[in-house]
Amino acid sequence: MLQDKSIFGENIRADFPIFRDGERLAYLDTAASSQKPECVIRCLTDFLSHSYANIHRGAYALSMKATELYEEARSIAAKFVNAEDASNIVFTKGATEGLNLITHALEDELRAGDYVLLTELEHHANLVPWQMLAKRKGIKLSFAKVDDNGSLDLGDTEEKIKTFKPKIVSCTYISNAFGSVYPISEIATLAHKAGALMVLDAAQAAAHIKLDVQKLGIDLAAFSGHKAYGPTGIGVLYGKAEVLDRMQPFLGGGDMIEKVTLDGFTYVAAPSRFEAGTPPIAEAVALGEALKYLMNLGLDKVENYEEELFNQAWQRLSKEKGLILYGPANAKKPQTSIISFNLEGVHPFDLATVMDDFNVQIRVGHHCAMPAMERFGLSATARLSLGIYSSMDDIEQLIKAINYAKKLFL
Ligand code: PMP
Repeated sequence: MLQDKSIFGENIRADFPIFRDGERLAYLDTAASSQKPECVIRCLTDFLSHSYANIHRGAYALSMKATELYEEARSIAAKFVNAEDASNIVFTKGATEGLNLITHALEDELRAGDYVLLTELEHHANLVPWQMLAKRKGIKLSFAKVDDNGSLDLGDTEEKIKTFKPKIVSCTYISNAFGSVYPISEIATLAHKAGALMVLDAAQAAAHIKLDVQKLGIDLAAFSGHKAYGPTGIGVLYGKAEVLDRMQPFLGGGDMIEKVTLDGFTYVAAPSRFEAGTPPIAEAVALGEALKYLMNLGLDKVENYEEELFNQAWQRLSKEKGLILYGPANAKKPQTSIISFNLEGVHPFDLATVMDDFNVQIRVGHHCAMPAMERFGLSATARLSLGIYSSMDDIEQLIKAINYAKKLFL
């Protein structure tokens, strides 16, 4: 079995306090939020217990120590995405805030009638902020198509880039609704050829596949800590230096200014320009610990394990009568970490109740991607999502619940 020879799956569950005691959890909702390893929990409580003070302003040792740890977390995040420098990393509240920041900070570069290209599978976090910007500035949005299995149509993407000459291309790396993996290098090359900025929603990718912003050719990228084994309330925004330099501040307040008078202000360079006010200090430090934990495991190994597990789970679930599986894997195209499905004749919300009785945690609904659901004529799906602690035992537990649901509802 997969987990026997691997450091992941059943063998890594000991690192996670939530899996240690009580009934076995088949936690298949890592895409909503991941569970936390002990080192992250300990880092958070240690920092709050022994090293806490506000940062960047204290002239005393404790504040300097806290500042040092916060800035060290920035360097870890830079290494995690292979940024050029720590100053390319802005801490945010999460992917949603990062993407909202981008739409505000780039506002002055866009004129009414300019295009931004998105795709049909975007999470609301990479759609609604652009729609709000469209309302404010009169810009236009266009959407690259996906095929009937949820794979990005690269031909259509190229065509739309040629036709609309967008100023910005912004898309997800992995769809949180269907697990589709987009060909980001190719999209970035097309975007840059047309003179557009390439923005990446890396929220579903960060903890699952290696995120190398330089190799991928990314100008701006955002992800959340809580989906990458870190705490809630903290996220990462990566930006190329020349792009961050020309972006306007999003929030105003302490820490982002150089000089303030009653008549106005001047602001500092990135990353502080985008970190107004007291940031989530402890959460940033603990996110650094989570990213270190992932890097020590090796992102290539994480990626391989989850890919192998995904394939086994897909094959196993394909054999279950009445289950409809969605996503590119139906056409043997890249998909990972997520399987969206429906049980014929059973509403996904009914299915979820049964799952909970079997200690299986899955997500049901539109997964904050209503237009993506609509593209396939769906209002909701059940979604299982994998992480480093997932194994085929979880899938077997899920199948038991599915079989019980069949008896109950069909
Ligand atoms: N984009 C994608 C692809 C996501 O999966 C999520 C979270 N589900 C987000 C954006 C938003 O992340 P958050 O809610 O942590 O800001």
